[in-house]
Amino acid sequence: MNARITDAILDLVREERARQNVKWRRAPGEWFDPEALKLAVLIEEVGEVGIELQPGGTNEQLKAELVQVAAVAVAWAEMLS
Ligand SMILES: [Mg+2]
Repeated sequence: MNARITDAILDLVREERARQNVKWRRAPGEWFDPEALKLAVLIEEVGEVGIELQPGGTNEQLKAELVQVAAVAVAWAEMLS
């Protein structure tokens, strides 16, 4: 594991968390949709990872989608904390 790369990725996840709050007009730490809807959002993001695995996808696009998956997972986990 390269800690510098890990830190850089976690920074991207934090930035994506902030973007998602703006996009969905949520205050930090607030996501009051039902759990089934949270799961749907997470699965939708995972599906976009799959799309980037298709021919023509790039590593940068794949990384961006993986970061979005992580950000959604973090937002959900925050609500359980
Ligand atoms: Mg996505």
